[in-house]
Amino acid sequence: MDYSILVNKEHPLDKNYIPCDLVEYSEYNGSKIDHNHKTLVNKTALDAFFKLQVNAKLDGHHIVIDSAYRSYNYQMDILNHYLEYNGNQAYSFVALPGTSEHQTGLAIDISVYKNGEYTDKLSEDMPEIVWMNNNAWRFGFILRYPKDCTHITGFKYEYWHFRYVGNEIAKEMHDKNIKTLEEYKQNKKHR
Ligand SMILES: [Zn+2]
Repeated sequence: MDYSILVNKEHPLDKNYIPCDLVEYSEYNGSKIDHNHKTLVNKTALDAFFKLQVNAKLDGHHIVIDSAYRSYNYQMDILNHYLEYNGNQAYSFVALPGTSEHQTGLAIDISVYKNGEYTDKLSEDMPEIVWMNNNAWRFGFILRYPKDCTHITGFKYEYWHFRYVGNEIAKEMHDKNIKTLEEYKQNKKHR
């Protein structure tokens, strides 16, 4: 698996692309769309997440994965679900099938437990999110769609969406203050 794989509107995945090393994440999460939908994550990314989770807990934060791998067809279902309720507006906040990096199994949307209660009502200034912003890189994750980078990523700021890229890349991006995977890949090409 290439942990630096770039997926965006210019680099969509084939509808037949299914990563091979997915494992099930069984901790409860409150996925609203389909309760029977299993949460699958790339194995290496999930191991890294569990390390992150333990460290977050030591700092008093309970962070869980709300959503991870989504197949091409599942992304299509999500899009159709929102198209039904929001009309064409849905295109502005749901990725087209193939353009969502959730299809790689390397992307996670997080939720948190507050005083033992699951919540998916997040805000960018809540301590858990701030913690993720400061620490996710130490476990190989990057905030994939940062603020003010929509012109580069093609996606709005998503403070809940993190992407596993591996320790080496996450550290390099952190140390060199490279905000997006697009810029990281671009830099590599020009070297
Ligand atoms: Zn996401």
